[in-house]
Amino acid sequence: MGEAERNDKARAILLYSGGLDSALASELLLRAGLDVLCVQFESVFFPPRHARGYGPPGDTVRADISEEMVRLVRDPQYGLGKNANPCLDCKQMMYSKAWEIAQTHGGDFIATGEVLGQRPMSQNLPAFRRMEKGAGVPGLVVRPLSGKLLPPTIPEQAGLVNRADMLDLHGRSRKPQIELAAKWGIEDYPTPAGGCKLTDPQFARRALRLRDMGCLSVANVRAAHCGRFFELGERAFVLVGRNHEDNVRLLASAPEDALVLQLDSGPGPLACLLGEPDAEQLDRARRLVVRYSRFRDLPPDQVRADGVARARQQFQATAQQMGHSAGPTGSRGQG
Ligand code: SF4
Repeated sequence: MGEAERNDKARAILLYSGGLDSALASELLLRAGLDVLCVQFESVFFPPRHARGYGPPGDTVRADISEEMVRLVRDPQYGLGKNANPCLDCKQMMYSKAWEIAQTHGGDFIATGEVLGQRPMSQNLPAFRRMEKGAGVPGLVVRPLSGKLLPPTIPEQAGLVNRADMLDLHGRSRKPQIELAAKWGIEDYPTPAGGCKLTDPQFARRALRLRDMGCLSVANVRAAHCGRFFELGERAFVLVGRNHEDNVRLLASAPEDALVLQLDSGPGPLACLLGEPDAEQLDRARRLVVRYSRFRDLPPDQVRADGVARARQQFQATAQQMGHSAGPTGSRGQG
């Protein structure tokens, strides 16, 4: 969306994830007569947008924060949460981005679906204050789901938001939100666990290994969502497809500097070798491809290693020989 047209209503710039809380916050603000511009952040750590539940109700701005999140996982000012999630830094960065969007789209204040006490680290009053201050927006973040329990914000003091319109939700129970959603006809919202992959213990372990190896980058994270993960030592790792879908996804998401390994002569797992592998690490990756294939006695030099473009051609050629149709990469796996 370009420069948005303004009407005479106050405009909230709402951090909109598509989860239940942000959907309720949006509905509440709209019912209170405010204009709402939703900001949907994209990231390599988030599921695809179509899997993120409730779509934004109106005007939307999208911004990719993958690079910023990778930087924050590497070096969080406030530390990581239980897994690899730098929630305080991340929210602070989101406030800051939302305020930039407010400047270009005529926003009066930021709004979020945060609920007081819902998350121990990032959803309490000192954390709210600290993040607002760090983002340069003290007093400018309205949290309509818990607004009645929080100190008055600048938009309230300016008469843009009415405290009586806000709620007093708090704590970890989602029951009041679920009841409100039913009352307001909000359906098909995702579970809280379906969001940021940095809170998924299994993926977080992978992300932290990448960080510790010096390999945490947007491109590597994009590739690291599927396949078996093997560390090969300093600054090199390999992802080995478990099945056809993994092979197709690995090839589709392989960064341009990856080496792609496939059996020269027949069906088998596809592997994506990343980082800065030396000859010995390449050999180990080849052995892994053999180990997870049906041809355990094959010498490792029967595993070809190509750049991504060449590997895609090879993948397609093998698919044609085997009479398979093309997959989403224009190729077909044989895992
Ligand atoms: S859960 Fe993920 S997206 Fe949400 S604040 Fe934490 S790090 Fe950021």
